[in-house]
Amino acid sequence: MSAHNDSLPDYKGRFAPSPTGPLHLGSLYTALASFLQARSKQGQWFIRIDDLDTPRNIKGADSDILKTLETFGLCWDGEVFYQSQQLETYQAFIEQLTQEEKVYPCTCSRKTLAAFHSESNIYPQFCRDKTAIPAKPYALRLKTVSVNIGFEDFLQGRICHNIAEKDGDFIIKRKEGIIAYQFAVVIDDHLQQITEVVRGFDLLDCTPPQLYLHQLLNLKPPTYLHVPIITHQNGQKLSKQNLAQAVDCQNPAKTLFYLLTLLKQQPPLDLQQVSIDELLNWAIQNWQPLALKNTHALAAIE
Ligand code: GLU
Ligand code: ZN
Repeated sequence: MSAHNDSLPDYKGRFAPSPTGPLHLGSLYTALASFLQARSKQGQWFIRIDDLDTPRNIKGADSDILKTLETFGLCWDGEVFYQSQQLETYQAFIEQLTQEEKVYPCTCSRKTLAAFHSESNIYPQFCRDKTAIPAKPYALRLKTVSVNIGFEDFLQGRICHNIAEKDGDFIIKRKEGIIAYQFAVVIDDHLQQITEVVRGFDLLDCTPPQLYLHQLLNLKPPTYLHVPIITHQNGQKLSKQNLAQAVDCQNPAKTLFYLLTLLKQQPPLDLQQVSIDELLNWAIQNWQPLALKNTHALAAIE
């Protein structure tokens, strides 16, 4: 599907929904932004299903999400990538970090940690010097060091923070054996050879620890573009938790037009009458992500 142009780098983008319910307007908006960014660079656009957090998965949500993307003309390249199919690869990287003594087992209960009041929510390193493998279930934590990790976000400018102070010894594998998102995403972007991550502003602070992991694992990091999130009129983020409605697939062209307006792309009014393919073509040709520069959140019309 991707026409390659010699003068452009081999752009690879992705959209990574969690199969915890149908797509809502906020996630479709992020999907559209990452799609437009990839297609405007004649790049490839992949889908990854973030299905590691098994207790939160909803059966059939993945195919439902894919169907919605197709309804909106957001066609992806290649096979859909499922995190649940990469468990052996995650484990191999965990073994590498274990051998390098960069992780340690933590048996602290939620209760122990809750009793230890800390404003920063940083793990107090009780288990840091454990060497023996505990008999009871344990999480794996990364032995982080005090280092400032920064990057240049295409829309949000320079972002930088100290990993030890802001993230602490964060978990890469949970007690129940679930690989943490923060860890998996780094391996996934590497496996899919993603060159740029376009996602919501709510994940901005996750980026420095992800870049820290890229460094530890010696992987080339992608560049980043964090789009503002869509909120309710009251400023609350649209999410499955606060029951944001599933997108209406009855009139995709109308919704798409509205999303382009939210993305500040100023589609001409006569595009209100055209098909989704025509609308997407216009949007690819005229994509101006910088219209969203320094914006963190945008309120949707309800
Ligand atoms: N599955 C994540 C989410 O829905 C996306 C993670 C990412 O884009 O890195 O928030
Ligand atoms: Zn512990």
